[in-house]
Amino acid sequence: MQEFSTFVTHLECSYTGKLYPANQLHGLSEAGKPLLVRYDMEGIAKAVSKNDLQQRRPEFWRYRELLPVRKSENVVRLGELMTPILPATKLQQELGCGEILIKDEGRLPTGSFKARGLALAVAMAKELGVTRMAMPTNGNAGAALAAYCSRAGIETFVFCPEDTPKVNIEEIAFQGAKTFLANGYINDCGKIVGEGKAAMNWFDTSTLKEPYRIEGKKTMGLELAEQMHWTVPDVILYPTGGGTGLIGMWKAFDELEAIGWIGPKRPRMVAVQAEGCAPIVQAYDAGERHAEPWQNAVTIASGIRVPAAVGDFLILDAVRESKGFAVAVSDDAINEAQRECALKEGILLCPEGAATLAALKQELVTGRINPNEQVMLFNCATGLKYPMESEHKSIDLSKPIDYDFISRS
Ligand SMILES: *Cc1c(COP(=O)(O)O)cnc(C)c1O
Repeated sequence: MQEFSTFVTHLECSYTGKLYPANQLHGLSEAGKPLLVRYDMEGIAKAVSKNDLQQRRPEFWRYRELLPVRKSENVVRLGELMTPILPATKLQQELGCGEILIKDEGRLPTGSFKARGLALAVAMAKELGVTRMAMPTNGNAGAALAAYCSRAGIETFVFCPEDTPKVNIEEIAFQGAKTFLANGYINDCGKIVGEGKAAMNWFDTSTLKEPYRIEGKKTMGLELAEQMHWTVPDVILYPTGGGTGLIGMWKAFDELEAIGWIGPKRPRMVAVQAEGCAPIVQAYDAGERHAEPWQNAVTIASGIRVPAAVGDFLILDAVRESKGFAVAVSDDAINEAQRECALKEGILLCPEGAATLAALKQELVTGRINPNEQVMLFNCATGLKYPMESEHKSIDLSKPIDYDFISRS
């Protein structure tokens, strides 16, 4: 049994700053806000160097000193890898803008970046003796929870809005979670999980309601900085639902600076939402620190259909501190961007990823993104998980093959 050295000192309420001990099971803080994991930064700086990383596998566990897991036996692996950063040179030329980079998270186990957060949450749950986990999900988080829990031998209950993409529902159930569809939104499903805690004795794994998913999502920031030779892009466009990834990356950059691996430069963080569900954008525009719950949320980008986020103030703080902004795009613009990227770059974005490209196009026009800026888009899941419009033509084999028709097509 190998011990990782862990540098966790304590947890801290992101709202009040109240401290909580490590090595205990935690949900939200007493103030009902997310808990953040804090580390002994000096200890980490002494224990590991950038060079040490080169001897380690190309996966996010290479950053283990900046992660909370204590015993390597609790790590559950499904072949995590460092996701590629793909330049989108044709789109760049066409839009007449600075470098466009796409971080393609669709390559991770279960086909989405939810694998990062859930790999950490499940490892920590295992370490802390949890045997039953539950979560509300719009699809990808449930799939990752189901996969990692089945592998770890933890029982899972997953609750989805009934209009969650069918593939997601099936993959969740198929990978062993007890799967339920409810006629409401993700927040309604969250209520089932929260209110059922006592009766069902399960651990609530909802976004930001436990402290470790954010540590997993943080690895996106660690990884992109390493891949960019310890620099960061000028702008990051992030499709924002619960905001774990945006908050996690923001935390990652601070931690990297604290151990001296990057300088003070930060990317401008842009929270991208869909026009049909844009609570963060509304709060940003109104100058508020908290978002009002969005009514009647509708968008094809199911991963960002989150009417109310517990970490709203953390998203808005990061966006403002970084001099970024929050912006909404229409479903039509999402569809168009998705098609354009597939056609021109051969990259099949998920609708949420396509939303970031749509936002880039829109904001180059308004001038909120400058044509000299280097921009990183996040494609959070493989496009293959989502329905696509069919664009093929059919051939009738009982007739002669009409090559003119084929050639004209
Ligand atoms: C969950 C999800 C998001 C939103 O991520 P958060 O970090 O929770 O805001 C975006 N896109 C996809 C595909 C997702 O599954």
